[in-house]
Amino acid sequence: MSTTVDAPQSITSGPLPDEVRVAIVGSGFSGIGMAVGLLEDDERNFVILETADDIGGTWRDNVYPGCACDVPSHMYSFSFAPNPNWSRSFATQPEIWAYQQTVVERFGLRPYVRTGAEVVEATWDAAAARWIVRTARGTLRAQFLVAGTGPLCEPKYPDLPGLDTFEGTVFHSARWRHDHDLSGERIAVIGTGASAIQFVPRIQPRATSLVLFQRTPPWVLPRPDRPITGAERALFRRLPLAQKLARLGVYAGRESFVLAFNHLSGLRGLPRVLGLAHLRRQIPDDAALRAKLTPDYQVGCKRVLLSNEYFPALNADNADVVASGIREVRPHSIVDGDGVEHEVDTIIHGTGFHVTDQPIADRLIGEDGRRLAEHWRQGMEAYRGTTIQGFPNLFMLVGPNTGLGHNSIIYMIESQVGYVRDALRKARSRGFAAFVPRPPVVEAENEEIQRRLQGTVWTEGGCASWYQDARGRNTTLWPDFTFLYRRRVRSFDTDDYETTPALPEAETVDAEAVGV
Ligand code: NAP
Repeated sequence: MSTTVDAPQSITSGPLPDEVRVAIVGSGFSGIGMAVGLLEDDERNFVILETADDIGGTWRDNVYPGCACDVPSHMYSFSFAPNPNWSRSFATQPEIWAYQQTVVERFGLRPYVRTGAEVVEATWDAAAARWIVRTARGTLRAQFLVAGTGPLCEPKYPDLPGLDTFEGTVFHSARWRHDHDLSGERIAVIGTGASAIQFVPRIQPRATSLVLFQRTPPWVLPRPDRPITGAERALFRRLPLAQKLARLGVYAGRESFVLAFNHLSGLRGLPRVLGLAHLRRQIPDDAALRAKLTPDYQVGCKRVLLSNEYFPALNADNADVVASGIREVRPHSIVDGDGVEHEVDTIIHGTGFHVTDQPIADRLIGEDGRRLAEHWRQGMEAYRGTTIQGFPNLFMLVGPNTGLGHNSIIYMIESQVGYVRDALRKARSRGFAAFVPRPPVVEAENEEIQRRLQGTVWTEGGCASWYQDARGRNTTLWPDFTFLYRRRVRSFDTDDYETTPALPEAETVDAEAVGV
């Protein structure tokens, strides 16, 4: 099928059912992909619980100026829902959000969505083999719980001395204040990640001054973005195979990064040369600024960023890059690490998300009464990046060690969705009420993943990144080619799980109850 991009519509949200077979938490790409998969299996007894008043996840929430994807659109979309109408090679946030809305419409997911239904707590009831899911709209029971909350959900604010005394405006890039006019303001931006490098060039021309507080310079490469021509779009509409090939080309190109990042460290010199040349070309006259913006770690250790606008914005007369740190925030200024005071009206945090300490982990209570956050105190881990020891019938999409630094996360989500579908089919056909991964298989797989990570740029590249947890362990990234992950989750092997036979009294409600 193909999708067209329409304007987003608001969701109408029905009553919360008492019981479902599957409760999906979140309606971002994970939740949407999971729901489409369930419908393909003719599973209609599910609900999508969404905190906000509309679908979309991080692509609904991140509305900062310049927000766009740095994975080409042909690949940053569902394989089952190609969009021949992408307007650019790298789609912008409004277009991606509209795409999500279109998929929701086309697959008839709207009746399954319950907005304003933030999951406050979910507790495994072993006797009933059900999750008791407490939401902002009431409680429901679910045999299976799919957490599609994603790692880029909860904004992370920096802990800066005196920040609470600041009398100007403060906000996070993921909670952009469009009601606040930045024109003519003295703006401070904290952070130099994927978000900051996109909004800084958009706000710098409007500011009286912009001071960027950089803790670590990112590697920035040219962004090969361009409009997709009308002729190309017509071709993709008439000949879907052409778009499939375009997608395959992007996929293969992106996978090749793994060679440098993981297997062949000798290749890492090439992107380094490209990055340094890009910096020199864009800031030809200011060696001191170039030195400040030159990373001292290997390309790929942190996410590689793509921009043709970031360096020129920092080279503008009204922009300043401070690399000495932040000593304190005062009511109308920030004092940097050298003691220089910068007068500012607004502080924008481009400081990222709670990735290795996701809020959902505080809200899930497993079979021994422990919260997932406690279980993960020594670091996140899962089996196949999806199921978790001590937490029966829980699936986490984009779970531990399934994130990517090189390719489309939607590919990983689709791989996981396939795994969950197989699990649900097997639970039904083999009469299992519950399953939970066996500790030895979880341990063995995680040891293997950590072994594989050794020697990769993500652990040995000489940087600190959000890929690592507080103990320095990389619990977020899949360390290899994505097709190897897909192969690993191709089938749900029940031998890897402790299973509980179905309880006759615990039948689920009418299969048609939710979505009709
Ligand atoms: P991020 O990559 O985690 O970057 C956060 C930035 O804030 C880093 O530069 C970090 O410095 C800095 N920072 C954090 N705490 C700080 C503190 N206390 N003092 C000073 N600086 C501090 O966050 P993000 O830019 O929001 O991006 C997160 C992820 O979202 C990306 O990696 C990507 O996966 C995704 N994303 C993708 C796109 C896209 O597709 N184009 C766009 C936006 C986001 P250090 O580097 O020193 O830690």
